[in-house]
Amino acid sequence: MEHYYQREIETAPREQIRALQNERLLATVRRVYERVPLYRGRMQAAGVTPDDIQSVDDLKKLPFTYKQDLRDTYPYGMFAVPMKDVVRLHASSGTTGKQIVVGYTANDMEVWSDCCARSIVAAGGSAEDIVHVSYGYGLFTGGLGMDAASKKVGAATIPVSSGNTQRQITILKDFRSTILCSTPSYALHLAEALRESGASKKDLSLKAGIFGAEPWTNEMRRELEEQLGLKAFDIYGLTEIIGPGVAFECGEQTGMHVNEDHFLIEIIDPDTGEVLPEGTQGEIVFSCITKEAFPILRYRTRDIGLITRKPCPCGRTLVKMTKPRGRTDDMLIIRGVNVFPSQIETVLLEQGYTANYRIIVDRSQNLDSVDVEVEIGSELPSDTVKGLDRQEKALEEALRSLLGISAKVKLLEPNTIERSQGKAVRVVDKRKLLD
Ligand code: ADP
Ligand code: ZN
Repeated sequence: MEHYYQREIETAPREQIRALQNERLLATVRRVYERVPLYRGRMQAAGVTPDDIQSVDDLKKLPFTYKQDLRDTYPYGMFAVPMKDVVRLHASSGTTGKQIVVGYTANDMEVWSDCCARSIVAAGGSAEDIVHVSYGYGLFTGGLGMDAASKKVGAATIPVSSGNTQRQITILKDFRSTILCSTPSYALHLAEALRESGASKKDLSLKAGIFGAEPWTNEMRRELEEQLGLKAFDIYGLTEIIGPGVAFECGEQTGMHVNEDHFLIEIIDPDTGEVLPEGTQGEIVFSCITKEAFPILRYRTRDIGLITRKPCPCGRTLVKMTKPRGRTDDMLIIRGVNVFPSQIETVLLEQGYTANYRIIVDRSQNLDSVDVEVEIGSELPSDTVKGLDRQEKALEEALRSLLGISAKVKLLEPNTIERSQGKAVRVVDKRKLLD
């Protein structure tokens, strides 16, 4: 039987969700117009007043907000409440430039933990569970976000944070953790370390994993499920919107339900800004409609995905978004061919290699070159140099025929690529250094 954390809203009729969204959007637009100079200025410049926004259908009249706006107003220029009402600050990891700061009121903290709690319950979690949080604790939203959610559900929370992999393995075994929360790349690293310690999934009590904060493929999902003996659930979010819990996966594993009683989702054409119909891929844009401290409207995430309103067998009526396949700024353009690292990952795993890989892009004499380095699995024979050579050629051929890119493949011994404790760094783009 399906369990819900907040059944009433998670399974509400569409009209009810829409009415709530309309009411909340109107109030938020009015509030930011009054309190955030950037929004007032942008709306005035676009000739829009709060009265022009009567329902979600009018959302498209509002100007977009960009990451650069957050940098320009750093640190507190976008806050809509006085500091006395702010109870928490977080910052983005700054993987793509200068960090940005976000704030939460006490109510924002409640909303956030409720959103993440929906994910834990959708993954089968309850007060009976032992939730092992390996996301980093600190300014990064992952650790404390899932921690608060686990507390809401009433589970026993283990705040391990990231790092110290051997200790994580000991805790997973001895404390009998039942739900693992981490980045998918770190979960894979834990699986490797488990194997190397001579143990296996049989020594663990895990039943579910809640993995997110970075793109990962369904092939990687199968690896994690197989190696750790759990069912793997995706969770999506970004610091600017609230952190993890913007969207979460149910047991169907066919997309993530967006917590759209708090966040409105639109898919737009990244070049024209035009809103695209359901089912069309484009850039994901979010508007916060309940946030008090940091209510951001029409935020351009640069993540690429699509939405579907097809009824979900789990009973939730919240719209679903696909796994983002990457960010617009992660997309590699290699000799004119667009390719996301996640597409390369799919090919590697389908061909029997590991998810421990690096993509190195370079340019010489105005020609782009791509080197894909990937570790062979410990069970794959790599005996003869000749054999390796043949395997490399076969993989190069697969990348060419499936993705249309010509890449040079280098197979590596297991454990040669540095493991990340948080988000994995898969791409080294040396061209950026040249510009
Ligand atoms: P930073 O931008 O500094 O890395 P965040 O932690 O806020 O900080 O990162 C949010 C981004 O992480 C999202 O915009 C998205 O690109 C990525 N992300 C988060 N969750 C997922 C997920 N489940 N699948 C794919 N990408 C994800
Ligand atoms: Zn569902």
